[in-house]
Amino acid sequence: MAKDYFSHLSSEEKHILKDKGTEVSFTGKYNDFYEAGVFVCRACKNPLYESNTKFNSGCGWPSFDDEMAGAIVRYEDLSGGRIRTEICCANCDGHLGHVFEGEQITGKDTRHCVNSLSIKFIPHTNLEQATFGAGCFWHVEKVFKTTEGIYLSSVGYMGGDSENPTYKEVCKGNTYHAEVVHLYFNPDKVSYEDLSQIFWDNHNPTTLNKQGVDEGTQYRSVIFYHSDKQKSIAEKSIIPQQSKWKNPIVTQVLPAKKFYRAEEYHQNYLNKNNLGSCGL
Ligand SMILES: [Zn+2]
Repeated sequence: MAKDYFSHLSSEEKHILKDKGTEVSFTGKYNDFYEAGVFVCRACKNPLYESNTKFNSGCGWPSFDDEMAGAIVRYEDLSGGRIRTEICCANCDGHLGHVFEGEQITGKDTRHCVNSLSIKFIPHTNLEQATFGAGCFWHVEKVFKTTEGIYLSSVGYMGGDSENPTYKEVCKGNTYHAEVVHLYFNPDKVSYEDLSQIFWDNHNPTTLNKQGVDEGTQYRSVIFYHSDKQKSIAEKSIIPQQSKWKNPIVTQVLPAKKFYRAEEYHQNYLNKNNLGSCGL
């Protein structure tokens, strides 16, 4: 007899995974959730999606643009008078959601639309976070994205007072949020000292609230530290930099506050749009 993967599930979970139900959009635990880890099948614990494939499609359900190798099976679904592709866990056949192609939201042009109740998040405990503000976040993300040891990079806002700021609000300049890149990195592969060096090498830390042509507090030079160790490394890293500049370094070193992920079209912006830089 086949193993029963579903008997331990709650009735809500069974409704989705076993009976192919759909949770109400914008209600799931993982819809607006961007921490670093892996999403496993809630029924059988089979690893399905790495969190660095997760993006915000705006549809109200967790969206991923790639699956882990061999994790998913696809079926033609003709229910509801539409032709769709259902996706299920390759191990237990539990229903996850549907997959769509050709919407051109991310470079992989694929959206796995998954119920939060079908999956469970397991954090990558070997990773640390780092957050840097060095002017326009498109450019800063591009620099860090290609660095060995970076598992996940996102652009967004930190350091201001308002909650859930939009790009438009931040650009007005009165939220005091800085444009930042927020990283999850593997300290066995890249050190915080190395990341700090990349930060210094890729902007001018002597121009107050200004980076190139961009002006405003959102473009300020700032290191948001996530531990006392990071604070100490960041503060020490300023000293050798000063000799490279005529004017004093104005970079702030501040404790990390809540990171607000920016709108999806800002993520990986320069690569998505085939741009070399944003004018810096
Ligand atoms: Zn499963």
